[in-house]
Amino acid sequence: MTGYSVQEVIGRNCRFLQGDDRDQKARVAMKEATEKGEYCKVEIRNYTKSGTLFWSEVILSPVKDEKGLLTNYIGVQTNITRRKEAEIALSMAEQEKHGANQGNTGLVENESFLASIIETIREGLIVLDENIRILSVNDHFCEFFKLNKQEVVGKPLPEMGNGAWNNPALITMLKDVLPLNNPFEGFEITLNFPAIGKKVLKMNARQVTLNGQYLKRTLLAIEDITQRREVEQRKDDFISLASHEMKTPLTNIKGHMQLLKRMAAKNGDKPYLKPLDVALNSVNRLESLVAVLLDADQLKSGAVQFTHHSFDFDELVKEAAEAAQGATKTHHIHVSGLANKVIKGDFFRLEQAVINLLENAVRYSPQSQEVGLHVNVLEDYIKVAITDTGIGINQWEQKKIFERFYRVENVKQHFQGIGIGLYVANENIKQHQGTLWVESEEGRGSVFNFTIPVEK
Ligand code: ADP
Repeated sequence: MTGYSVQEVIGRNCRFLQGDDRDQKARVAMKEATEKGEYCKVEIRNYTKSGTLFWSEVILSPVKDEKGLLTNYIGVQTNITRRKEAEIALSMAEQEKHGANQGNTGLVENESFLASIIETIREGLIVLDENIRILSVNDHFCEFFKLNKQEVVGKPLPEMGNGAWNNPALITMLKDVLPLNNPFEGFEITLNFPAIGKKVLKMNARQVTLNGQYLKRTLLAIEDITQRREVEQRKDDFISLASHEMKTPLTNIKGHMQLLKRMAAKNGDKPYLKPLDVALNSVNRLESLVAVLLDADQLKSGAVQFTHHSFDFDELVKEAAEAAQGATKTHHIHVSGLANKVIKGDFFRLEQAVINLLENAVRYSPQSQEVGLHVNVLEDYIKVAITDTGIGINQWEQKKIFERFYRVENVKQHFQGIGIGLYVANENIKQHQGTLWVESEEGRGSVFNFTIPVEK
């Protein structure tokens, strides 16, 4: 229903399903009920992992022990999107009827209004029937794929473009839209067309509704992202090349500078020692920057080998906290909770993730003196929460910060960084079937949480 896997939701507050849509009465009702330990039933707007809205009826029931003390809540969630959409469409249709009764040619106007929108959109649009036969397309679709409407309409999609559309994954997904009410969003695919060559396309598809009725029609929207992907690839290639090319000369410079320093010390050339130290420090900084870039590049290309050994998770937390504590004079890292679990994984990679999160918590909370690291166990998962009371992150950028090189817009000028730490932490955690997420409020601080499954 939500598109999330079990790993991705364990340990999270259900609030995350509402995303940015926070201003809902149902949220207040649920908060009040849970604070009092009471039952409640609400209808709420939730969002799937890919961002699609779905209406949920949520029933929350308190579970109490024999002394009447609240121990848990059981929540049952039912997808009521179809009913809600029908209700909304009905009320719109009623409003329209009302308009028409007042001498307005509502429906006709609406249709030509819709048609003009469809033709103006700079995305290819196709309407398909239940056998994925093309019923209509917009002008942009024909322009982009160099086709004319007459030869397209009525054709089964898989037969188009000499079979270029006949991609098994795409066809299966399209065939599932109607019978399973299974829309999809942001599906990326590379197809090779005889007339226009290889294109990277991003697609959304959903069932068409009209006046609250579900029609046996699928609307497929197609966005061409070939150029965007090419630019990204060129940027990746450049960073990869530059960091590889810098590595050898840097090692060379460093070696010679160390030699010069030893010679200066031996000959008693004191005035040279200080500048050489300063220069060596800069070379070291550059070297670690190049190492970080190379590491991210190798993670992206899947070239990093993860080794899996058994180790005590609390040991990892202790070492990571000590390392991060060693790097700050301004903050105290307060560790609480224990996992008491031995897990199988890559100690170094997971430790690196924890250190990156701790260092960020320190860096982005310049006004405070403490950062928290809390460990607990939820069923078969270890959960780690790293808390700071720093600058926080606004809602709309919270998802983007895990992308490579992404840095929050208004933070860039005030804090040094290259936007790779979270990407690396996230990749390392994902390699352990774990999930990393953030809960944050601008100006109030952030909590970076991650879970790691423990073998049963
Ligand atoms: P860097 O810190 O080098 O910029 P990261 O990938 O570690 O790169 O973080 C990406 C961005 O996420 C940061 O630039 C910052 O804007 C934001 N960020 C990360 N951690 C925090 C935090 N604890 N508090 C506020 N913002 C954060």
